[in-house]
Amino acid sequence: MLKLYNTLTRKKQPFKSIKAGKVGMYTCGPTVYWYQHIGNLRSYIFSDVLKRVLKYGGYKVDHVINVTDVGHLTSDADSGEDKLEKAAASEGRSAKDIADYYFKVFREDFEKLNIIEPSIWSKATEHIREQITLITKLEEKGYTYETSDGIYFDTSKYKDYGKLSRKDIAGLEAGKRSEMREKKNATDFALWKFSEEPGKRQQEWDSPWGVGFPGWHIECSAMSMNYLGETFDIHTGGEDHIGVHHENEIAQSECATGKTFVNYWMHGAFLILKGGKMSKSSGDILTIAQLEEKGFDPMAYRYFIYSAHYRKPLTWSLEGLKSAQNAYKKAKNVVASLEDDGKENKKYLKDFEKAINDDLDMPGAIAVLWGLLRDDKAEGKVGAIKKMEEVLGLRLFEKAVFRVPAEIREIAEERTKARADKDWKKSDKLRDKLEKEGWKIKDSGDDFELEKL
Ligand code: AMP
Ligand code: ZN
Repeated sequence: MLKLYNTLTRKKQPFKSIKAGKVGMYTCGPTVYWYQHIGNLRSYIFSDVLKRVLKYGGYKVDHVINVTDVGHLTSDADSGEDKLEKAAASEGRSAKDIADYYFKVFREDFEKLNIIEPSIWSKATEHIREQITLITKLEEKGYTYETSDGIYFDTSKYKDYGKLSRKDIAGLEAGKRSEMREKKNATDFALWKFSEEPGKRQQEWDSPWGVGFPGWHIECSAMSMNYLGETFDIHTGGEDHIGVHHENEIAQSECATGKTFVNYWMHGAFLILKGGKMSKSSGDILTIAQLEEKGFDPMAYRYFIYSAHYRKPLTWSLEGLKSAQNAYKKAKNVVASLEDDGKENKKYLKDFEKAINDDLDMPGAIAVLWGLLRDDKAEGKVGAIKKMEEVLGLRLFEKAVFRVPAEIREIAEERTKARADKDWKKSDKLRDKLEKEGWKIKDSGDDFELEKL
């Protein structure tokens, strides 16, 4: 049985979908004003694994990812510039060009990382009407008020405000006085922002309240409910969204409908730099393209991500990625040397399923994969690994850089053993034998890599 950790209840819970055999899932997507860095991509690998595990369990998954192409301001306190407008001004291009370009790169990264595309990509600028309708609903129910810069949600009118992050609202109120401006409560947030000078922004729309643009939070409520219904199964995002963005999504959605918005809230922990968190402003942006330039296979990055559970922070390092790439190549080499006996190893598959169903324990799942790869007596290896691949998505069977025949690998292993025994004569002899067969062996520690000559 699949168990998932729900941020709302702070517990691992058995997963039960609203409709039998179907799951509605929403993932907070990119703000497309710049490249998504490898930290962002960790979040999407997490939601991809979740989706793959659900599919593996027989569910049909309706998955929506939004594309924030308007309304995300440089400050979370509803002030500052719109990130898209700012990028457009500094790059001298239209906001639409910027959004299209970075969205295209983002989709290429999905392909490179073997992340399955969602059923629907949902752009904020293509759902302005839905957002206005939702704000109107909140206004009719008395949850909104107007200030000189926009329409705000009054969080004091929602008694459950803060239930996701369990934050101390009173403390927050006291601490944030300086950011209050005309807001009634520090936690109130913009639903609609007025254009300061209509006609100056590239992206603005008419609304019942005046020319402007939607706030960042309302897009996710409007678009998720539009495609998945007023109550749906799973909502995912990075853990930074718990305290503000998702809290606000819950408030505005539940006040508008009077229903539970989402049953399972799931959050991925951050990829962190040694000195702190990885962010676009830290100047240390690393993109998938940059990794490729340094000679890494994007799949090695996916493998690297599996070294930590999705709820644990993972520290980024090139050394970590290097050893992930070595292990990944090695796994691929072993897989290439296997012969399909037409069976499926049930024992290892059972262990694998136990790991993935335990709140997506990917380090555990990888350990099971290695157990199987190393087990000389196991039958049904190819069949089992093919099934595991439905979840792992590591392209273990795809055009191995070179296919290593079993007998070649055996010679290489024998040589590694000879080296370990300091039997240099034997080791040199075996290396020559490999070269005669057309394979070059490279030692890396107590391991090896084989390359076709
Ligand atoms: P953004 O484009 O800033 O809206 O972020 C896109 C997604 O990446 C969100 O789900 C964020 O929570 C997530 N995210 C941002 N930084 C990191 C990081 N360093 N590690 C993991 N996820 C992140
Ligand atoms: Zn969102």
